Amino acid sequence: MDSVDALVIGAGAVGLAVARALARSGFETIVAESGNAIGQGVSSRNSEVIHAGLYYPPGSLKARLCVRGNELLYALCASHGVDYRKCGKLTVANSAAEQVALRELQQRASANGVPVLWLDAAQAKALEPALRCDAALLSTSTGVVDSHGFMLALQGDLERAGGMVALGSAVNSARVTQTGPHVVRIADGSELQCRVLVNSASLHACSLARRFEGLQPRFVPREFFAKGNYYSLAARAPFSHLIYPAPADAWLGVHLTLDLGGQAKFGPDLEWLRVDSPEQIDYTVDPRRADGFYAEVQRYWPGLPDGALAPSYSGVRPKIHGPGEAAADFRIDGPALHGVPGLVNLFGIESPGLTSALAIAEVVAQLVAQLPPPA
Ligand SMILES: Cc1cc2nc3c(=O)[nH]c(=O)nc-3n(C[C@H](O)[C@H](O)[C@H](O)COP(=O)(O)OP(=O)(O)OC[C@H]3O[C@@H](n4cnc5c(N)ncnc54)[C@H](O)[C@@H]3O)c2cc1C
Repeated sequence: MDSVDALVIGAGAVGLAVARALARSGFETIVAESGNAIGQGVSSRNSEVIHAGLYYPPGSLKARLCVRGNELLYALCASHGVDYRKCGKLTVANSAAEQVALRELQQRASANGVPVLWLDAAQAKALEPALRCDAALLSTSTGVVDSHGFMLALQGDLERAGGMVALGSAVNSARVTQTGPHVVRIADGSELQCRVLVNSASLHACSLARRFEGLQPRFVPREFFAKGNYYSLAARAPFSHLIYPAPADAWLGVHLTLDLGGQAKFGPDLEWLRVDSPEQIDYTVDPRRADGFYAEVQRYWPGLPDGALAPSYSGVRPKIHGPGEAAADFRIDGPALHGVPGLVNLFGIESPGLTSALAIAEVVAQLVAQLPPPA
């Protein structure tokens, strides 16, 4: 049977970042990817926003890893020539209640160590003349990135460090052990031994972990899938910052993001799916959802022309909390939790997972560095 030091399951932004970190710390590393190319999962269906870290509860993994990941991601973009734009973002309030929410966000941002600036309506309008708001928070460390360029850079570093991505290699199951190497079964019938096994299969992470013999089922959370639909704007948007409404409940609201060419898109909204597995997901964007988008967007951009929005693409969040439940934190489950040496399960890596990828990789590399040396 072939063997390798470290096997990472999933070649999305997070799996590639983890594999790069492991390879750079001396592990012979392979990424097993079921698809025929890297980055075709959640990492190709998102807003490509480099989040600053405003929203997440202070001290949570999401807060800490977003702030750290933001810094690492900008540095990697600069050193590797990955396209990005630090365009900044305005989060806007259009009612007294939203101003209260915005003040809370300001406090949370400062607790997370994220610089933000409170703007009154005139100051916000001076920055973005087409914007309607009573007040806004300016975050200057928010930006947008070419996510595919980012993943190619990660793959390049991984390969330079001696690692590789094995495409078309779906992992079916594994037998994880306390003492010996773990044995991973690939869909083509082959098996591979490894000392370190990182499950970064995103939408599939929970169902896959349930097929790890030797891992107690109580260490695998229940998964939920929440779709985010996007609409594109036919015309050019009169904005140079990303525009977000004041946050409500479970998600960040229908926001306006810009791609690197300055083209605007709106979304994602939040649609809980009633599916049992990712294979059942329908990514089609229902044109009837547009009505909700017009109403939301016109609150902060009254000039949005009728008929300007066209259904675009969608992505699905790998959630580990259900509708109406408190938002879950990222889970980076290592041996201290489940007792299996060398095994790390990544669960619930939804937004800000792209921003946090390099910081998640640092945490995984630290967990694995505590392994005893090979016999
Ligand atoms: C609508 C939406 C908007 C978002 N916007 C942002 C944003 O603006 N900023 C931000 O920071 N984050 C954002 N996110 C979150 C971010 O996109 C994800 O956290 C990140 O891309 C997750 O990367 P990943 O590598 O964990 O997952 P993925 O990219 O899904 O990679 C997992 C990989 O595992 C592979 N795989 C699955 N099962 C197996 C198996 N059995 N064997 C082998 N391979 C397998 C899949 O094919 C896939 O390639 C958004 C997410 C969504 C859904």
